[in-house]
Amino acid sequence: MSDLQARVLDWLTSREGEMADLLRDLVNADGGTYDKEGVDRAGAVLTGFWAAHGIPFRVTPVETLGDILRADLAGPGDDPRPILLLGHRDTVFPKGEAQRRPFRVEDGRAYGPGVADMKGGLAMEAFVMAAFAACGAPVPLAMLVTSDEEIASPACGPAISEAAKGARAVFNAEPSRRADGTAAGNARTQVVTKGRKGGVFLRMEATGKAAHSGARYQDGRSAILDLAQKVAPLHALTDLDAGITVNVGLIGGGQTVNTVAPSAWAEIDLRYVEPAQRDAVVARIREIAETPLVDGVTARLQIKGEFRPLVQTDAARDLLDVWTAAAARFGVDVSAGFTGGCADSGLTAAAGCPTLCSVGPVGGHAHTPDEFLEMESLLTGAKTLAVSILTLAARTPARAA
Ligand SMILES: [Zn+2]
Repeated sequence: MSDLQARVLDWLTSREGEMADLLRDLVNADGGTYDKEGVDRAGAVLTGFWAAHGIPFRVTPVETLGDILRADLAGPGDDPRPILLLGHRDTVFPKGEAQRRPFRVEDGRAYGPGVADMKGGLAMEAFVMAAFAACGAPVPLAMLVTSDEEIASPACGPAISEAAKGARAVFNAEPSRRADGTAAGNARTQVVTKGRKGGVFLRMEATGKAAHSGARYQDGRSAILDLAQKVAPLHALTDLDAGITVNVGLIGGGQTVNTVAPSAWAEIDLRYVEPAQRDAVVARIREIAETPLVDGVTARLQIKGEFRPLVQTDAARDLLDVWTAAAARFGVDVSAGFTGGCADSGLTAAAGCPTLCSVGPVGGHAHTPDEFLEMESLLTGAKTLAVSILTLAARTPARAA
């Protein structure tokens, strides 16, 4: 074991309690995606931590959502490309959730809004940054903390792609899972994510013509009638064997019960596996959505948000091997799974950067009040990340200046 590795692991091990404190402060800061104040409060917890550990950072303001935060550590050599540690600090919960359900630990498990998804991953990454700040980073390291992952990163997406283009590898600290589901016990198994579906969130809006449905029915053009007939053909685009699903998840419209509906809308979620599948299905959705079925009704389709699929490349497979070997040092058995859930790792993979996702501490029941994090995996995860970084650094010797 190298001297640097021993120092970094010691540094982390002696700060397990402080990691739990940082996690507590991040959870209790609250921060549903649309609660800019709460998301920025969680951001201030992180920037305060970075400042206290002498880590340079910058804040990029975002007007309506939380700001974008990035910390950087310089490394030796003349290759400026960092290993990028990625995370988001927004949660899916309503404002005030952390006051109603503050951070608590019971039987080795932590609870609270966003404790696993993904404030645990942020605490882990922040401590790895601090460990290398104290002991010396073997390669440049960057930590990018975004604010809108739970709504498909409309504001932070470009910054994520940009950061990934300039990075040598990405670790995204979404929560990992236990191999045996969510049963209580130790956290010595870990399922990371090797592949994710791509997702496109679309909105269809139909415009017709209002008329009194009793007196002037024949003058009306019902947007609801038009839109409703499109739901079945949209769902019929689903091809489960090919991994393509189309779901109309929200629908609305109309004015009053006695008015022929002048407007209607629906929101559609498309998921797919292969990048090549995307354009053809989006084109079919557009064709169905925008072809009038009621004379006099017009409809248009808009893409509201999008995640790229996480596709496993050879370089990403190699990253998984590095992680697996590092975790084994701490008695953790790693396996890799595929999920239809989307994340920012799709953006970094699409930018061409080798990406490993769900390397955060082990947790479960994300997006529900039962969300939990195995506290033991906070330190183990940080050590695994540190060793993975050192392994990658040892392989890319600093070029002569
Ligand atoms: Zn997440």
